[in-house]
Amino acid sequence: MQKIIVCLKRVVDYNVRIRVKPDGSGVITEGLKMSINPFDEIALEEALRIREQGKAQEVVLVSIGPDDAQQQLRTGLAMGADRAILVQTSAELEPLAAARVLRQIVSREQPGLVLLGKQAIDDDCNQTGQMLAALWNRPQATFASRLELDGTVATVTREVDAGLEVLEVDLPAVVTTDLRLNEPRYVKLPDIMKAKKKPIEILAIESLGVDVAPVLRVIRYEAPAARSRGVMVKNVDELVGALHDRGFLA
Ligand code: AMP
Repeated sequence: MQKIIVCLKRVVDYNVRIRVKPDGSGVITEGLKMSINPFDEIALEEALRIREQGKAQEVVLVSIGPDDAQQQLRTGLAMGADRAILVQTSAELEPLAAARVLRQIVSREQPGLVLLGKQAIDDDCNQTGQMLAALWNRPQATFASRLELDGTVATVTREVDAGLEVLEVDLPAVVTTDLRLNEPRYVKLPDIMKAKKKPIEILAIESLGVDVAPVLRVIRYEAPAARSRGVMVKNVDELVGALHDRGFLA
């Protein structure tokens, strides 16, 4: 296969504690550490391994976001991707809008495989990959915990509620990654230096001519209720007694 596209979303780092704006209109993102969405990092690691096995020639990153998303693309280039495309927008795109944009990039680049995370940890939507596959009219395999390529077919092991499901999909296809697919590599200093020379193409979102208007209306954001403190019990008898006292056991 000539090319793999990997979609990288810039999100608030998973270690940061999210706070809701006092007026409930959103979450505070100013001044927070931003990172590559963790599932997208797994997608990139997988693409790099496929290229290293000689089964793909090029790994191309795509991010849709603000100018600052170049930082995450640079990290992806330092991990080993060959080049990157930033579709620039200051708007927060919904999954359907992101999928439409990605569809345009796919038309332009003609990849053999598109890898996305199973979900972005900021909106937890778990929709973009599925929507992209539908718009592209190509097969999809979501929640991949194992991916094997053989010529024009990908064999994907999926993590589903009942266990593991193995699917064969014809390429080109869309695959979304689950946590156990791999462990992403660390970026080394010389690779950061090398990545500075790799190209990032910047496209204005308007130039793609897609409808990215929101279709959802957010009513309000709220922080989850604070959890009450847990109780340590010394043994099973105490546990059974405590459950009984609280009315959980008859
Ligand atoms: P979601 O459907 O929002 O949970 O996102 C699922 C996956 O779609 C993410 O893990 C990314 O791989 C991809 N994706 C979503 N939004 C973007 C974006 N703005 N830029 C690049 N990739 C994105």
